[in-house]
Amino acid sequence: MRRLYWIISVVFLLLICVYLFNYFYQVEKQLKINEIVGHQRIHAKQASKSFIQLFDKWNSVLSYLSNDSNIVAFNKTGATELERLTRILKDEIKAITRTDKNGRIIFTTPANPSSLGADISRQKHMVKILATHEPVVSEVFDAVQGYKAVAIHYPVFRNRDFAGTIAFVLDFEEITRSILDDIKIGKSGYAWMISSEGIELYCPIKEHIGKSVFQTGKAYPELLHMVGDMLMGKEGTTFYYFSKTANPAKNELKIAHYLPIRVKNTFWSLAVTFSVNEITSSLVSFRNRLMVIFSIIFLGSIYLSYFGIKAWIIVKESQLREIAEKELRESEEKYRTVIETTDTGYAIMDENGRIVDANMNYVQMTGHKAMKEINGRNVAEWVSSKDLERYNAHMELCITKGNVQNLEIEYQHKNSSKIPVEINAHSLLSDGRKYIIMLCRDITDRYRTQETLRKERSLLRTLIDNLPSGVFVKDKEFKTILANKIHLDSLKGHLKYYGMDSEMDIIGKTDFEIFPKEQAEAFYEDDRKVIEEGNVILNQEEEGIGPESNQIWLLVSKVPIRDLSGEIIGMVGVTNDITQRKKAEVELKEAKERAEQSDRLKTAFLNNISHEIRTPLNAIIGFTDLLKEQEFSKEKSLYYIDIINQSGNQLLMIITDIINIATIEAGQLKLKPSNVNVNSMVQSLFNQHKANAENKKIQFYYETSLKDDEALVVTDFTKLLEVMSNLINNAIKFTEAGFVRYGYKPNGQMLQFYVEDTGIGIQPEYHQTIFDRFHRVDSYLASKYGGMGLGLSITKAYVELMGGKIWLNSQPGNGTTFYFTIPYTRA
Ligand code: ADP
Repeated sequence: MRRLYWIISVVFLLLICVYLFNYFYQVEKQLKINEIVGHQRIHAKQASKSFIQLFDKWNSVLSYLSNDSNIVAFNKTGATELERLTRILKDEIKAITRTDKNGRIIFTTPANPSSLGADISRQKHMVKILATHEPVVSEVFDAVQGYKAVAIHYPVFRNRDFAGTIAFVLDFEEITRSILDDIKIGKSGYAWMISSEGIELYCPIKEHIGKSVFQTGKAYPELLHMVGDMLMGKEGTTFYYFSKTANPAKNELKIAHYLPIRVKNTFWSLAVTFSVNEITSSLVSFRNRLMVIFSIIFLGSIYLSYFGIKAWIIVKESQLREIAEKELRESEEKYRTVIETTDTGYAIMDENGRIVDANMNYVQMTGHKAMKEINGRNVAEWVSSKDLERYNAHMELCITKGNVQNLEIEYQHKNSSKIPVEINAHSLLSDGRKYIIMLCRDITDRYRTQETLRKERSLLRTLIDNLPSGVFVKDKEFKTILANKIHLDSLKGHLKYYGMDSEMDIIGKTDFEIFPKEQAEAFYEDDRKVIEEGNVILNQEEEGIGPESNQIWLLVSKVPIRDLSGEIIGMVGVTNDITQRKKAEVELKEAKERAEQSDRLKTAFLNNISHEIRTPLNAIIGFTDLLKEQEFSKEKSLYYIDIINQSGNQLLMIITDIINIATIEAGQLKLKPSNVNVNSMVQSLFNQHKANAENKKIQFYYETSLKDDEALVVTDFTKLLEVMSNLINNAIKFTEAGFVRYGYKPNGQMLQFYVEDTGIGIQPEYHQTIFDRFHRVDSYLASKYGGMGLGLSITKAYVELMGGKIWLNSQPGNGTTFYFTIPYTRA
């Protein structure tokens, strides 16, 4: 800036100096030119006057001569007079001529016989004088004697009659030289004259004399322009270029004053010229002096302006500094006011943590009353000891990394009250030293609010966690954001079932991130209705999967959660496990169905029983009546008695079954354990049923797998026997070909019995129900064989009473194998 001012002022001064220098120089030059022009004019006028006077002088001489009677008459005396005159004035008058009235030369002195009698009436000036009878001056002409001549003719009258002319022939060159040679201005000034025809009459360049100026000056248009003016008889001053040689490089600027010299009938034009160069060179010393003066003025001005600018800059700078200082003061005040009025504590520490500046708010936050109490002290002094290490670490970080954000610590006052504060700090470099600017906010209120919130949350959480229901919350993006333990537990079975990690953290995830797509879509469809459509789902029964992949039932309610403006922000779901209730319901339903069926069965039983009892009873009564009333052969009687006996046995069996069932029903069934040799029992069963099997032409055999001493067990013999009998009876009963085989083998703690046949088999749907009372296989094949459907239910009750289980394997048409177990309690 300073440099710029400096350059501008130097350039400015230089321009002024150059301008003034040029101005003064030009003024001086003009004065000089004016002076020269003045001289030129005087010289020219002088010369003009001299010419006119000269011609006037000769005119008056001629006037005198023209009145001389001897000359008028032109006698001898006249001629002698003229000859004498010529001799006297020979320096000025080269010849005297007398013409007659017709322009013919009648006399000339000095004598020139060749010209006597010559007719010159055609010459321009002669034409004029012959016509006007007024004196005339001839053009300049080359005299025979080899000089430039001019003639003055004067009229001669005899008795008032024109009698010719008398003329002086003058050496014009001589005349002009005598007049014009004197005109010398400086070194280069000279006079120059042309005739009215443009012929150079006088010129310092000898060769030019007598030549047309239009030829000698044809290379110089300004000169010719001046010549134009001169030929018109004008007077004036002008500049033109001219060189004495033909070399245009040597052209010189000339200044000329020109004016006409009028002599009688003709005029000549005279120019006095002067070289401008001479003026310029005459100004050299003036110019040099001027240059020195202006150089001094310039340098002096530079010197002065240097100090001027310096002073100006200093003033300007000090003004700027003052403004800046004022602005700084104002901004500092503003900043101080802001800092003091803000509710944030503000402090500046040096890099060791010592307070350099702080606002009142900060002072109070630290438990003090005035800045001076904490000035220079280390902040660590009032940081709670529990937070001190963290605080120091963060401040170190602030110095190295540049800032610390949202550091929450506690300030400990002298009176042991504690204030939680949040610190935001920045490091800064000033004058090469590091400082920390710290903004400190009292967050007691926030803590309190947070604490209240935390408590409320914890209360809510406790409540949610301890509710007997599953609770979960999803946000608008269908992400689970809260779930209590019951809900999480209820999901475990699901996750396990789908081969997922049952302990997976589902918080923050959508169902699509937790479950397989199909399952997730099903959940999503319901959730969408709640979150997007605002529907409420209440007590919707949903099937679920329990931890053992078992079926569970959940009662699910889903309700949208709205914010204060009523906008839905998510949903809350509540689930209750109603598996037990559901089971009870099912059981109840089944029990009811069972009761109803049992009712139906009992009716069927009564129908059956009346049929089953009536059939043998009718046989007994019928045949006994027959035997009573008629005499039959012994054979026939025995046959009838056999039928009666069989019917009696059948009846007994039916009644036994009924009694057994009644006993079981009444819960009166008791075990009577004794030592039983299973091998013997198997053997006796064979004996018992062999005949039956043989009757039906089917193979019948048994297998034992224990040695006799191992086969001795403690069990209820009668019941075991009855169970086996029952199964063997059925096997033989429902088998038409093939075999029936039975036996046992030990199986761990148990003895496992079996009865296998190749009979009609049992369809799978009956595998369970045939153990129920009064249940029979409802098929054509089965119905052929009769029976009340009590045997297997009694069998099952006996097996279970003995501590075992009964089941079967069967393929319809291929036979059946019944298995049952009893504890292998060795005797
Ligand atoms: P019932 O006294 O009618 O034989 P059970 O309780 O002994 O009654 O048998 C019930 C039903 O089970 C029979 O009616 C029969 O249909 C079927 N059943 C039992 N054992 C066999 C078997 N070994 N092969 C085919 N069906 C059988």
